[in-house]
Order: sequence, then structure tokens, then C-alpha cells
Amino acid sequence: MTTLLGLDLRDRLAVVAGGGPVAAVKVALLLEAGARIRVIAPALCEDLVDAFAAHRISWEMREVIETDLDGAWLVVAATGDRAADEAVCRWATAARTWSINAGSGQHGTARSPALLRRAGLAIGIVSQESPDPRRIVVLRDELAAVPDLVKEGDDPNVAIESVDAVIASAAVDLRHRRPRPGRVTLVGGGPGAEDLMTVRGRIALSEADVVITDRLGPRSVLGRLPVDVEVIHVGKVPGGHGPTQAEINALLIEQAQRGRHVVRLKGGDPFLFGRGGEEVIACREHGIPVEVVPGVSSALSVPAIAGIPVTHRGTASSVTIAHGHHRLSPAAYAPVADGTTTLVLLMAVTLLADHVADALAAGVPPQTPVCIVERGTLPDERCLRARLDGVVDAAERADLQAPAIIVVGAVADPRLLAAVADHSEAAVLA
Ligand code: SAH
Repeated sequence: MTTLLGLDLRDRLAVVAGGGPVAAVKVALLLEAGARIRVIAPALCEDLVDAFAAHRISWEMREVIETDLDGAWLVVAATGDRAADEAVCRWATAARTWSINAGSGQHGTARSPALLRRAGLAIGIVSQESPDPRRIVVLRDELAAVPDLVKEGDDPNVAIESVDAVIASAAVDLRHRRPRPGRVTLVGGGPGAEDLMTVRGRIALSEADVVITDRLGPRSVLGRLPVDVEVIHVGKVPGGHGPTQAEINALLIEQAQRGRHVVRLKGGDPFLFGRGGEEVIACREHGIPVEVVPGVSSALSVPAIAGIPVTHRGTASSVTIAHGHHRLSPAAYAPVADGTTTLVLLMAVTLLADHVADALAAGVPPQTPVCIVERGTLPDERCLRARLDGVVDAAERADLQAPAIIVVGAVADPRLLAAVADHSEAAVLA
């Protein structure tokens, strides 16, 4: 399904095969659309009997046959019998007549949208993938509850933009309701501030049946998920224990094998020190579809928030992002020592004193500016600046804790982006 038509059915013949409650719902919509309706069914449910009495509906009391479709503009298959519905849709297609399969949705050439009427506009929602009537109705109802979604006089494009904005805000429930194969989406949640999460990531969250999350990344979005979305925390507290990577992989697979859409929410970007690659491999080994939604990595965004461009023309022409759980080799410090490269260290708070000692030993000048940003982009963010040879003391005094990003290099000089900066002088910091 790629396009959506608004059909003018006024005084045009629509044939409905079936007389049960599903047919009754479609008949009500067709009546509203002003269609002429012919119902073919061995029996009518109560709602249809009432509609039959009150409106221009003709009824033939028998099973549907192919010639019943003659002259129809639109056919609705709602017999309650899968094979019969599919046959009706095939006849319709042979006669080049649009058909809605109100049962399984298969073989029909049209779908009836969940409709939201506002300010003289009709906003129709259909599934682009396999039909999922409850999903579109839930979304319609949620959009209907949004105040001022569409205002009088808005043109359709404005209405579409408003709907888009609501969907992008992750404020609606987009979960699939019909059974479908499970899948996993690795979502990079960004450094922590909710508005630094991507729209694609937010939409994936709105589609999640279960969210498996780390300690880092945006937490506030989790509070707005529908109450019956399961949230499983697998994050490790620094120095503490949590599930092993193998256990996390097994959890992803087990959840997806239950037919759920699993969102694996991670801090920053899933592929930067996030072990996302391992999770992708584990899913693929088990034949589970897996998608990756990139995220805004803390390695670049946290320095940026602190006013540090990790590269800057004439100051630093490259950047090294390193994992600071272990000591780096002396070679890693050489480009930092010659002043051309910025070093960004993640997970390096515990070994800060070792890293600093190694950097100094490798020839990084003691006056090199260092900036440590703790809980960057979060409301309680702290930023500490010091010279390389003073940073260990300063960090101890400030009791800096993980998560923090450590930036080493001339770009960490707070005067770099100042309106009037003295670029000739090396940083002189506390
Ligand atoms: N995949 C993540 C990094 C995971 S490793 C990313 O791309 O950002 C975890 C480390 O990231 C933390 O120890 C810390 O060094 C850093 N980090 C993540 N979020 C941070 C934040 N808001 N402020 C400071 N550092 C952060």
C-alpha cells in the first residue's frame, strides 16, 4: 500500500458480501459516504437489519456469487469466511473493481482507513505493511485526543505536518496489534537529554512491545511509554554487577522469538563502545531481523555541549576516541603530544590518574588543556577544566563520577571559542 485515495462514493454502487457485525461497520461507513449499497448475505445481524430498514440498502438473502459484483465501484468482502472473502476479492480484481477484504485484509486492493475528521478535513490512517485494524484505530484515537491537532482553515499539508510532529514526539502508541514475526531494533538514545534522541529512535520506541535499556541514554522517555510496555533494565552501575553480554543477547533473542518488537535502547550510538555489533551478530545467528538506529554519540555531543569543537582548523585536525577502561599504549599519546590530535576518553574516570601519568610520560605537555564533562546534556551536568598536570587533583576535589567524557587537547582551552581569544598562548589553567 503506497497511496491513499479519497473516493467519492456518492450514489455509486458498493457491494458488501456478508451480513455480520464487520459488514455492519462497513455499511455504516458506506452510508456515511453516500454510497448505494447492495448486501449479499444469507442472514443479517441486528445492526444491519436496522440499517436495512432505515436506508437505501438492498439485500439479497444468499451466498455471494461473482455476478453480484456487476456494476459495483467498490466491493467489501466481509463474509466471515476466509476463502470466500478471498474469492470475492479475486472476482473484484478480475472486474477491475476496488475491493476491501474486511476479514484478513489479504487480496483486497483497497483498505478502509481509520478516519479522523477535523476542521473540514478527513485524516485517514491505513497500514502500509500488513493490515492491522486495531493499531490504526488506537493511533486515530490518540491523535483525536491531541488538542488543536488541526485548526479551522488549516490546509491538508499543515494537518499532515501536525500529525507527523505528534508521531515523531513518541507520544503515541504505534505498537502492532496483529501477530507478526519478532524483531529487534538497536536504538541509539543519544547522550541523555531527551531532545537529543533521533526522531527515528523515538518512533521505534513507540512501536516497542518491550524495551531493554542501559543506565545511560534518555531515561525520561521511558516514563511516557504505555504502562503495559515492558521495560527491562540491563545496565551496569559502575563497579557493580549486571547481566553479562551473553545474557543480554539471550534476552533479546528470547523476547523476539515471542513475536515481540524488542527495542534495545542504548546510550549514545549503538556502535560506539556499545557492543551493538555483538547484539546484531547474535540476532542474525538466530534469524531474527535486526535494525540499527544510529544515535548522537556522547563522544562528540558532550564536548560540543561544553563548547568544545573536537576538531578546529589550525588547532586539531583529527580526533581519537578511546575506551579508558584500560591504560592506553604510549603510541596512542604521540599525536596528542605533538598537538595535532584531540583525545576523547570514555569510561576513563576510574583510571584517570593512570591515564594522566601515561600521557605525561609519553610527552604530552603538562599545560595541555583537559576538560571533563560529567553527565553531559543532563540537568545536573558538571564541567571541569584544568591543565593536564592538575586535573587529577581537581577531579578528586570535585568528586567527579562516571559517566563522564574526558577531552585532552588544545581544543579544550575555554578561550578557543571566546569572542576575543589569544590563540598564540598555550592554555594556562588552574
Ligand atoms: N555508546 C555510547 C558510549 C557507551 S560507553 C555513546 O556513543 O555515547 C559509556 C561511556 O560513555 C561512559 O562511561 C561515558 O564515558 C560516556 N558517556 C555516555 N553518556 C554520557 C554523558 N551524558 N555524559 C558524559 N559521558 C557520557
